[in-house]
Amino acid sequence: MRIEEDIKLDYQDVLLKPKRSTLVSRKDVELEREFTFYHSPKKWKGVPIMTANMATCGTFELAKLLSEYKLITILHKYYTVEQYEEFFKTYNNPDYVGFSIGMREKDLELLDIMIEKNLINNFSFICLDVPNGYLEKFAETIRDVRKKCPEHIIIAGNVVSNEMTEELILNGADIVKVGIGPGSACTTRRMTGVGYPQLSAVIECADAAHGISNAQGCGLIIADGGQVHPSCVAKAYCAGADFNMFGSMFSGFEESGGETIEKNGKKYKEYFGSSSNKAMIDFYGKKDSHRASEGRYTLRPHKGSIHDFIQDLFGALRSTGTYIGAKKIKEFTKRATFVRVSRQLNTSNERFDTESNNQ
Ligand code: 5GP
Repeated sequence: MRIEEDIKLDYQDVLLKPKRSTLVSRKDVELEREFTFYHSPKKWKGVPIMTANMATCGTFELAKLLSEYKLITILHKYYTVEQYEEFFKTYNNPDYVGFSIGMREKDLELLDIMIEKNLINNFSFICLDVPNGYLEKFAETIRDVRKKCPEHIIIAGNVVSNEMTEELILNGADIVKVGIGPGSACTTRRMTGVGYPQLSAVIECADAAHGISNAQGCGLIIADGGQVHPSCVAKAYCAGADFNMFGSMFSGFEESGGETIEKNGKKYKEYFGSSSNKAMIDFYGKKDSHRASEGRYTLRPHKGSIHDFIQDLFGALRSTGTYIGAKKIKEFTKRATFVRVSRQLNTSNERFDTESNNQ
């Protein structure tokens, strides 16, 4: 047994120190970034934010809408080949959509069908998503998928440490998804005791990924989950994240997935974890007997239109840029000085989507 004594931090443990800035207006802050990759020969340009591949936000409906803002939707794993065929009759914007699978045999069979039917080329991103990216078999799966799809931008995760970030990149991932346990619908930390404070995970994994480079590009990371407020998205970029991924902040809107439920005269929308009992029963018909649920089912107060949220999110990120003197998202990390604060004093840890914040 070993104890690591140094303090690890979450988004709520820090604030950003303002810096002298030459920027005149928030409009001067550029939110689009362009990336090249360590393996994939593609170039990508857009706002480096993506939806989680969850049933309530990785939907066709959001993909159509979010691509207009150059945001990426990673589709959930429950669509069928026929549904993809139908969707791509009216959607043609590969840069802003990702196909996601796990590492079960069935997932890889689905990938083969998508390749055979040439549906896979409708996606720039393939997301290999497992709760535990530390399994040896996962690296093997990434290698296989890289061989089958040499041109795609491959996302793989989740992990929270530097050595595993390097391992996944060296085995074929372009972008490593970072986060174990921070998700708002996730109960992994409570059920298993496993996890890592998210801000520190992002700092350590970004450093490892960016250290692997070639003439074409370097390894990249996604800060996945735990953002409860736009300031967390900014803090993740400041910590070195190349992309932010979240589900909760994209949920609860008119346009989000999940049922709308009325209770005591108020409207709510469902938001549930991919490993919740609800997801397992709805999409696989049963809960495996060897598995405990590591996700929860929640109802989020109905938040109106997602368009207003996106404007607020973009406005908030631009404002962070002006406070710290960063003209581009890429500069956030160079300009950032975090100050540690007591959680009680940090008002940014109230949820953005609580009822009181929306009135
Ligand atoms: P959120 O935006 O809700 O804070 O986090 C979204 C992230 O939580 C997802 O991208 C995914 O990594 C993670 N997640 C989603 N569902 C579950 C679940 O049922 N269990 C666990 N452990 N993580 C989940």
